[in-house]
Amino acid sequence: MTRRIRIFDTTLRDGEQAAGVNLNLHEKVQIAQRLDAMRVDVIEAGFPAASDGDMEAVRAVARIARHAAVAGLARTRENDILRAFEALKGALRPRIHVFIATSPIHMEHKLKLSPREVLEEIRRGVTLARSLVEDVEFSAEDASRSEIPFLKEAFSLAIQCGATTLNIPDTVGYAEPSEFGQFVHSVMEAVGAGDSVTWSVHCHDDLGLAVANSLAAVMAGANQVECTVNGLGERAGNASLEEVVMALRTRRDLFKAETGISTPLLYPTSRLVSRLTGIPVPPNKAIVGDNAFAHESGIHQHGVLSKRETYEIMDPRDVGAPSSSLILGKHSGSHAFRERLNEMGYNLSEEDFKAAFKLFKDLCDRKKTVTDQDIEAIVADRLVTLPETCVYELVNFSVQAASDMASATVTLKVQGEEHTDAAAGNGPVEAAYRAIDRITGLSPDLKEFRISAVSGSSDSLGEASVEISLEGRAALGRWASTDVIEAAIGAYVNALNRLSLLGVTSNG
Ligand SMILES: [Zn+2]
Repeated sequence: MTRRIRIFDTTLRDGEQAAGVNLNLHEKVQIAQRLDAMRVDVIEAGFPAASDGDMEAVRAVARIARHAAVAGLARTRENDILRAFEALKGALRPRIHVFIATSPIHMEHKLKLSPREVLEEIRRGVTLARSLVEDVEFSAEDASRSEIPFLKEAFSLAIQCGATTLNIPDTVGYAEPSEFGQFVHSVMEAVGAGDSVTWSVHCHDDLGLAVANSLAAVMAGANQVECTVNGLGERAGNASLEEVVMALRTRRDLFKAETGISTPLLYPTSRLVSRLTGIPVPPNKAIVGDNAFAHESGIHQHGVLSKRETYEIMDPRDVGAPSSSLILGKHSGSHAFRERLNEMGYNLSEEDFKAAFKLFKDLCDRKKTVTDQDIEAIVADRLVTLPETCVYELVNFSVQAASDMASATVTLKVQGEEHTDAAAGNGPVEAAYRAIDRITGLSPDLKEFRISAVSGSSDSLGEASVEISLEGRAALGRWASTDVIEAAIGAYVNALNRLSLLGVTSNG
């Protein structure tokens, strides 16, 4: 008597809307491959009408997904729906996800449409989408602040026009679990569609309740949860996929429901997404944080050693958390290295694999042991960000530093052409950044700058992360190296490349 809950992942659409996140096509494909392998039911790959980049991303994900349905988001407008259909043409299971707001505040102030006009939009949009594909989802944006009688009309109409999944979003993260569960129940009951449709929820985390609200909705009868890896998303983010999945699994006794997710891929997928988006996972994050299974207190350690279940409600192996991250060294061959990369979720072309193996061997010459984190740091930063999307490439640099003054000379390739410049600063990193600014002609604000050790040992790689902003656009950059100055410069160049993906660039 277990119900099957569908996991609809929107890391590549809602997650990608998180401030400072801008994934390139190659990175989106890497993440989609991983989501597909993890057996999410639906991958929402983008909003094709929003930009050419989204269009291309949905098209690419549609081509590679073997198991999951691939969804493209669309407003009720004809052009949005046709673009989504166009992008989804190569998909085995295409889904068009049509949405329009149904709350009084959104209808009046954002859409400037009357409730009648909104219903007319739903009728036209859903009918058109259903004429193109079998699988249509309809979302009533801001549903949690909409009136139930109007939602009943909107959803009933969407079902009549062919929608088979109905989504009830808590767009602004305003709901509270017991209330939201009751709300979902009331909407389902009012519409009275029985088992002929799938009810879905999409909760935001503004009050830290996205997962709790999603689970309350499952209790009330929802069969699909929209979520993202690491809970990424607009503002405070979405419901976290790993938390929803493990809550349902760990408390199967209560929910009497299961997902199709291959849970040992949760941890590596979280790492992959964190690495590619540049958004770190807090150590105390449930399920996938570094400390999620760390027992610090002696009493707890003793308990776990005599019987794991005394203090552990989940087996770390079930979520793919590594028991030991020390894995490879100088004598490891390319076969073992390739296997490890695959396990970590990286799917490289032959050419990129050769380059990665060379980076690994170079690293082994400089470091006794190479950890998963080290491999991730070098492979993701240097290879997954596609060379053809890199406007700027660091060729070399030199710095001279005294206690109160430093100077730096940097050579960058800007769209294939080398430029060198020099500058002074209070420290070597500042001097190098100024030299880079002279070359690019850009002077972004440095909002954040951090250097940390990739792993715990004294010969650890240093990893720099920076956040820069220019013309109202922000970008994160990361780079790891055994030389911290190089890491700092690499992170800055990486952030500039990500900014250039947003159209902020110069020819130097
Ligand atoms: Zn959302």
